[in-house]
Amino acid sequence: MHKENWLSLQARRPRLPHALLLIGQKGLGKYALAREFAASLLCENVAPDGHACGQCMACNWFAQGNHPDFRLLQPDALGEDVETEEGKKKPSQQITIDQIRNLDEFLGVGSHRGGLCIVLVNPAEAMNRNAANSILKILEEPPASILFLLVSSEPSRLLPTIRSRCQAAPISVPPTEVATRALVAAGISDAERWLALSGGSPRFAREMATSGQGAWLELLANRLAGGRGADPLGLAGELEKAVKDSKGRLQLKQVIEAVQKWLVDLTLVKNGLPTRYFLGQQPKITMLADMIPAVRLIHFYRTMNQRRQEAEQPLNARLFLEGVFLDYRALFSR
Ligand SMILES: [Zn+2]
Repeated sequence: MHKENWLSLQARRPRLPHALLLIGQKGLGKYALAREFAASLLCENVAPDGHACGQCMACNWFAQGNHPDFRLLQPDALGEDVETEEGKKKPSQQITIDQIRNLDEFLGVGSHRGGLCIVLVNPAEAMNRNAANSILKILEEPPASILFLLVSSEPSRLLPTIRSRCQAAPISVPPTEVATRALVAAGISDAERWLALSGGSPRFAREMATSGQGAWLELLANRLAGGRGADPLGLAGELEKAVKDSKGRLQLKQVIEAVQKWLVDLTLVKNGLPTRYFLGQQPKITMLADMIPAVRLIHFYRTMNQRRQEAEQPLNARLFLEGVFLDYRALFSR
């Protein structure tokens, strides 16, 4: 865990708001950090550096998942004992209004230990519309000594009214050397490349490196490097297959995010800066950037933000990807 982030959370202790929103890119360990922070707030014999003692009654309850003043809200799909047998209902990817309603009693009773009542929401963007509205009502008139810890990699997907009720706690990316060292120590080869592709998030980098993501990313980068010569329909077919074959481990939105990173790199080199994500392809990206008018890049960037939203529930994955790559090739048209 990156020490700066821990210290900045600890610094908030004397004047905690009713709701803290931990925001930062994927893979920084925000959830683990939020849990650690919750544990330290509930601990009844906290260490001088702010860490939970790990030994008191409160710490024991917390470790066993039954501290009476702590609730975790997350989609069923993230739960540990998810039923995956055939014929069972697919676990929800959303945080539902029922989960928020179940908080009523928790919030009504107040603290059992004379301290804070903490509700951890992970990830906050998983709240569906009804759930979000329901939690908003609570945030508008929060009971005393309640602390909501909301965790989000995509705060733009939260209701603005929720965001404005929370104090933002930005979680920063660790320094490259620190993250690279941690990855090498964990036995990840090619650590720098993965770290760059993940945008500097060590956890995300490790996940990518160890989950067989190399193949499709390599494929995507090679094809995009083809510029005008790229075969949009062929590429759409190949990636649709990769998504399908991954059985849920690779999602369409990850493909779009990778294209967005490629686009960021194009924009960076166009402005005379080095690539951030695709380190190995810098010479190629530089060549491509020269061929694209800046105004087209900006327009494509906007389109891709829109696509990123649509990627959650596309009507037809193949057509969707074809659209994306046709747009990409059009960047190079004369
Ligand atoms: Zn303790």
